[in-house]
Amino acid sequence: MEYVIEAKDLTIMYNGVNAVEDLTFKLKRGETLLLLGPNGAGKTTLLRVLAGFHTEYKGYLKVFGKSPLEVKDRVAYVPQTFSINSRVPLSVLDVVAMGAIYKRGIVHFNVPREVIKKGIKVLEFLGLKDLSSRSFRELSGGQKQRVIIARALMSEPELLLLDEPLSALDPKARLEVTSVLSRIKEKFGISMIITTHDINPLAEIGDKVMLINKKLVAFGTPDEVLRDEIIGKVYGPAS
Ligand code: ATP
Repeated sequence: MEYVIEAKDLTIMYNGVNAVEDLTFKLKRGETLLLLGPNGAGKTTLLRVLAGFHTEYKGYLKVFGKSPLEVKDRVAYVPQTFSINSRVPLSVLDVVAMGAIYKRGIVHFNVPREVIKKGIKVLEFLGLKDLSSRSFRELSGGQKQRVIIARALMSEPELLLLDEPLSALDPKARLEVTSVLSRIKEKFGISMIITTHDINPLAEIGDKVMLINKKLVAFGTPDEVLRDEIIGKVYGPAS
């Protein structure tokens, strides 16, 4: 199937009140979509619907040709904030391994050996192996973000949704996270949607850009959308 996502006149509500209105767009397999829009534009809301977490919507929406709920297992969501409530400090490898364990809906106290092996492989692939025995809690923001991306890969998703993976990171950490995303794209060909307020480091890996402000403002290639006259429509004219 050519399209990972097909949305037509998609309207998303919270208790009957529209948060996102009449979105029509398609995403092809292997493509990376950068999702832009001001605060409150509906970016997180759209990701949560695609991930099958929020189901109050109307209009046509197919993910892998099915409803988001039916394909939840094929989609991974990396939230904007991630914290771990654990009385014992968890290692990076523990946190990554949990990505596979939760998928099966079982919490093991003894993590199976094959999961550990897979976790090490994923960390290695993302250049994070040196962190594996460090305490997750003690990592920097940029390291944490890369680890939770690694954790999302453990469920072998075909669609990866990332909510502002660069927010609150310094420029160096932004580049490091971007390089991890670019590696994932090259190696696995996973389709991705990345919400961001800062297009700069990500522009290279975006095949498509969608600008929303409750409704669709623009959708197209980065060259088509990242133009002052289009961005200015929602963010005001460039100074
Ligand atoms: P930001 O860039 O600030 O993260 P966003 O583009 O992700 O913003 P959303 O968080 O999706 O925007 O919010 C879209 C709209 O939906 C806003 O008007 C918000 O107030 C509303 N909204 C979000 N979550 C809920 C909720 N749980 N209940 C009711 N309204 C909500």
